Amino acid sequence: MTNDETRVSNFIRNIIDADLKAGKYAGRTWSGTPGPAAQQLVGPADAAKIRTRFPPEPNGYLHFGHAKSICLNFGLARDYGGACHLRFDDTNPEKEEQEYVDSIVDAVKWLGWDWRFGNETNLYYASNYFQWMYDFAETLIRHGEAYVDSQSAEEMRANRGTLTEPGKPSPFRSRTPDENLDLFRRMKAGEFADGAHVLRAKIDMASGNINLRDPAIYRIRKATHHNTGDAWCLYPMYTYAHPIEDALENITHSICTLEFEDQRPFYDWLLGKLAEHGCVNTPLPQQIEFARLNLTYVVLSKRKLIQLVDEKHVTGWDDPRLPTLVGARRRGYTAEGFRKFAEMIGVTKSDSLIDYSVFEECQRDVLNDSAARRIAVLDPLKLIIDNYPEGQEELCEAPNHPQKPDWGKRPVPFAKELWIEREDFMEVPSKGYFRLFPGNRVRLRYGFVVECTGCEKDAAGNIVAVHCNYFADSKSGTPGSDSYKVKGNIHWVSAKHSYAAEVRLYDRLFKVPQPGAERDFLDDINPDSVKTISAQLEPALRDAKAEDRFQFERHGYFVADRVDSQPGAPVFNRTVGLKDTWK
Ligand code: ATP
Ligand code: MG
Repeated sequence: MTNDETRVSNFIRNIIDADLKAGKYAGRTWSGTPGPAAQQLVGPADAAKIRTRFPPEPNGYLHFGHAKSICLNFGLARDYGGACHLRFDDTNPEKEEQEYVDSIVDAVKWLGWDWRFGNETNLYYASNYFQWMYDFAETLIRHGEAYVDSQSAEEMRANRGTLTEPGKPSPFRSRTPDENLDLFRRMKAGEFADGAHVLRAKIDMASGNINLRDPAIYRIRKATHHNTGDAWCLYPMYTYAHPIEDALENITHSICTLEFEDQRPFYDWLLGKLAEHGCVNTPLPQQIEFARLNLTYVVLSKRKLIQLVDEKHVTGWDDPRLPTLVGARRRGYTAEGFRKFAEMIGVTKSDSLIDYSVFEECQRDVLNDSAARRIAVLDPLKLIIDNYPEGQEELCEAPNHPQKPDWGKRPVPFAKELWIEREDFMEVPSKGYFRLFPGNRVRLRYGFVVECTGCEKDAAGNIVAVHCNYFADSKSGTPGSDSYKVKGNIHWVSAKHSYAAEVRLYDRLFKVPQPGAERDFLDDINPDSVKTISAQLEPALRDAKAEDRFQFERHGYFVADRVDSQPGAPVFNRTVGLKDTWK
């Protein structure tokens, strides 16, 4: 991990700075693995200054929004000498799958982060905490702080009240702790059908915050869980499970997105009660909310991403046009660019929309520095040098990186017939056009100066070849070569030595900044988001390995596709152009 990303302070760092200064978490102990107070209290002082976590639900692939949360949480842990846990929030029995777990592990690693801390693994599954969660619920019941409600779902909804009216207490609210305990145990034993009863926290049916009007904390769900199988038919609600997961893991700063702000009073109520009853270690974790990432030209909702994949608007989760991290990786975006982007946009308390070009600029910065230069002709047109001897060939030298002489140069073969870009020739030049046209001179970059003599056309009038003469004493790098003054400088490859390769030119998947704002988001799909072409590439590119990145001079940044490339026959994806050309 490079440490050159600049740190900007933000409100979360301010909170942590103040906590550390006040020694808020200095005295807490930690047994080395998650567990309740009894286990943590006999442990040594926690060596981690802070603990954060990234808690994905393994029910989908990670996207750019998750990357913001990952870089934030892991970045804070790194900067403050703390630990960041990777926790699979798999308390919902229905949706989780191993495929998602694996892809999440890969994505976080790919972004450059590590959840280990000293000897700790810090990769956790919330479903391993079910027994503790259950035991804590019994404790709440015993203290009269939770009760079994037997109203129907509709009754419960009707009695919850509104923003302006208080809720009505359930007729079951006055059940005694013994009655509740008996019912709760029978719920656990599988005596009742789904929905027959729920366990609710007993807080305040008149609270101005609807989340405090006796929220449900356990429900009956006769479903097989991927980790615990059929051991449970009773599952905790997310709002109950999450604070407990944080407390069991000694999390200090539990960072989540703004929509959980209204849940914070319940988070604090629950952990306050559990601390009072000696269930969880103290000091308690604190929930801090930040604005989620919203980015133009993409959709970051799991539901919409699933729809794009399922309805085959894209080729799969790793389609390079999707804002998933597997897609981003295939597209050639760099992990460093993601970290840079996360630092640049920072964290705030209010929602905003970030322009996609900001993300691309971060990627360009990293790629400009790290990608070797190569030559590719994407739309080939033959250039014939009439006065160059038939059968002759020679080598020119091209630098691998213009700002990094230590990366050296590579030989580029030159011969009588070359490929140039079709747009680098105009039979009748428009105003200000300095490239090839009859009578004009240009430099063939790293090679010779040539003067255009004309072109050949087929029967339909299409230009099929351009002719020129070269100046033998104008070869780049040879004495006197710079006495030729030309305005145009174009790239080329030798037709005999170059090879044809598949190149995919990706563009934005949506044609409007906010897909779905005005109509169904599917109607905003850009019909030209990918163009597959056969390009002529310089011979050195044949050896590119999957995921090698290059700047194709004058075109942009390209990566050897990690899925479709074959040894000796890489396929290239355009990551991003050299400049922001989106109109
Ligand atoms: P779901 O709607 O299924 O809950 P989710 O996007 O919230 O989807 P999770 O797996 O619950 O997915 O998210 C894991 C973490 O990523 C959460 O802590 C969440 O706050 C964070 N996260 C998700 N989307 C964004 C986003 N757009 N910007 C910043 N953080 C995000
Ligand atoms: Mg979520």
